[in-house]
Amino acid sequence: MLKTIHAEMTQTALETRMSPRALKIIISANLGQDAFSGQVGHDEYHFDNNAFDKANAYLQAQRETLRTALPAANLPLAWSAFGRLTHAVQDFYSHSNYVSMWLAEHADAPPAPAEIDPLRKDLLESPRLHSGRVCLPWDAVYFIPGLRGLALKFLPEDSHGKMNLDSPQQGTKFAYARAAAIKRTVYEFDYVAKGLSAELVRKFSDVE
Ligand SMILES: [Zn+2]
Repeated sequence: MLKTIHAEMTQTALETRMSPRALKIIISANLGQDAFSGQVGHDEYHFDNNAFDKANAYLQAQRETLRTALPAANLPLAWSAFGRLTHAVQDFYSHSNYVSMWLAEHADAPPAPAEIDPLRKDLLESPRLHSGRVCLPWDAVYFIPGLRGLALKFLPEDSHGKMNLDSPQQGTKFAYARAAAIKRTVYEFDYVAKGLSAELVRKFSDVE
């Protein structure tokens, strides 16, 4: 997703749960995943190329980092690990066909975006679930201003560019990808908090 959208979604999901200084570090780590060094050879940061196992292992590694950093009072490390995790889970909904599969069940009357369930086990485990394959060079051309239309002519249906739901320009499905990403971010906060003592939850959320 676009940087401004990752920042807005993270803020919306967590602003009532975490302090502004925690949010600042979380958002900065979230956005850092889209730096050039994070775009090449890091499918797990963005749920690209059907790297579901690798990406889920990456989420688990960030949770572990967070859980060891908190008792050691390394709050910046805990927050940045959580920020990296939020980036990956948010990208899942804009780079995979999860939203399309969910919407296909409601083809006659699509519910409002806020109705989407981001954690339907049957969809998450469906053999039909897939994410955008990065097809070079056209998936790189896709990001060159003015050349997106040309790239789309050459990209296959299961490519990153064709499946991309990263901004409102991608059409009506974007609102569902955004709603699912925000809900999932809240879920990830609750999931982390559930595994921590009340004292460590207070440290992590940084709210008195
Ligand atoms: Zn990304």
